[in-house]
Amino acid sequence: MNLECGVVLPRMGRIMYNPKSNKAEEFICHDEVLASLAFAKANKNNLELINKILDKAKLGKGLTHREAAVLLDCEIEEKNQEIFELAQKIKQDYYGNRIVLFAPLYLSNYCVNGCVYCPYHAQNKHIPRKKMTQEEIKEEVIALQDMGHKRLAIETGEDPVNNPIEYVLESLKTIYSIHHKNGAIRRANVNIAATTVENYRKLKEAGIGTYILFQETYNKKSYEQLHPTGPKHNYAYHTEAMDRAMTGGIDDVGLGVLFGLEGYRYEFSALLMHAEHLEAAFGVGPHTISVPRIKRADDINPDDFDNGIDDDIFAKIIACIRIAVPYTGMIISTRESDKCRERVLKLGISQISGGSKTSVGGYAHPENEKEDEETAQFDVSDRRSLDEVVKWLMGLGYVPSFCTACYREGRVGDRFMAICKEQQIHNFCHPNAIMTLKEYLEDYASDETKKIGEELIQKELATLENQKIECAVEKNLVSIENGQRDFRF
Ligand code: SF4
Repeated sequence: MNLECGVVLPRMGRIMYNPKSNKAEEFICHDEVLASLAFAKANKNNLELINKILDKAKLGKGLTHREAAVLLDCEIEEKNQEIFELAQKIKQDYYGNRIVLFAPLYLSNYCVNGCVYCPYHAQNKHIPRKKMTQEEIKEEVIALQDMGHKRLAIETGEDPVNNPIEYVLESLKTIYSIHHKNGAIRRANVNIAATTVENYRKLKEAGIGTYILFQETYNKKSYEQLHPTGPKHNYAYHTEAMDRAMTGGIDDVGLGVLFGLEGYRYEFSALLMHAEHLEAAFGVGPHTISVPRIKRADDINPDDFDNGIDDDIFAKIIACIRIAVPYTGMIISTRESDKCRERVLKLGISQISGGSKTSVGGYAHPENEKEDEETAQFDVSDRRSLDEVVKWLMGLGYVPSFCTACYREGRVGDRFMAICKEQQIHNFCHPNAIMTLKEYLEDYASDETKKIGEELIQKELATLENQKIECAVEKNLVSIENGQRDFRF
């Protein structure tokens, strides 16, 4: 067994592991996942090997899935402490104390699939189905802009009749066209079903940020059982979606699994294999990794699933992903409570949602709360407003960022990764975070949040190492106070 490359010789008739292959079952090779799990189990108390892996991890260049699997399984208390400390250090080195904020926007909950963990599945006949008109989308976007959001994640169910690609493209046009008061949506990430290269090309032309698609589970057998009907049943088509997205010109893709569906160790190794595949085949790894856990929703009871993970394992997974792929952003949503979010922010999370609604049309008409809850994709645990989340982050020592500059300045895909791997991203991100926070404070914050934010900005200005940049930021902050918007490096 070769730890470095993670290659394992297949048994007769078995599929060969090949990270460069464009076939799902070769780059997420089941035998290789199992071999990695067995290797990790056999070495979970192997101090010499764990020290060797940690030494490599300290270089901040990442780990192979097999090395990371050993850290995830590690049972030596003192080494686990070291793993958490290292994750915090890497988080600080690559992302500083910035946390990027976004909100999900559900356009339609029509869906033809049969996913057993999602209330939008086609067999659910009592959930109200809703698809927003362009006028309704406009209302939602105005409500989101009035909260202070600049970055959205667009969500729809899969339904070629109700939610064709043309509907998504038209909606993106609507979203980008709205400029209410000082508001604007400057980056719309898209989370829609796996589609064709041609449709990905259209999404790219429509100016999307990241294309996000959760794998749900990488275990083919479980995947097919959890997706018994609909186009999503096709494991290979779903798993190879990111290859088609990148072939279609999309620079940034976001991976994720739904923890709780399958054994977490399997998902963890396979998720990192997916990242290694994108790097091997396209020269650029995933832009983000999301770590949702299965939650209660309309006809979904998380207790029906055997593989739920507790907060301690969840934290360890996040720390080990942070160490394995230091240059990939990590996202956590309002599925998690504020307490849980606070714990994992320092271990590696770089983006969080705030003030979220997971129903169709939930922002513009908060008075329809009951209906919202009936059409929500999952129960939100963190129900605080965006202003409360911003204030909370600042109280914890983070700088809430509404920055979308990299994508708009063409720092995407391999260009973004190159800057990030060199740990140069601070030079752009930190001044941009300060300036976008200032915009938020001027336009949307409560008095108390504004007061805390102004003090934080003064403190953060002093941390800018480049004096020329510091002067430019100070000048721009005055211009923002005088009504100008959208400064960026
Ligand atoms: S997870 Fe997505 S594809 Fe599956 S039922 Fe829900 S909305 Fe449809």
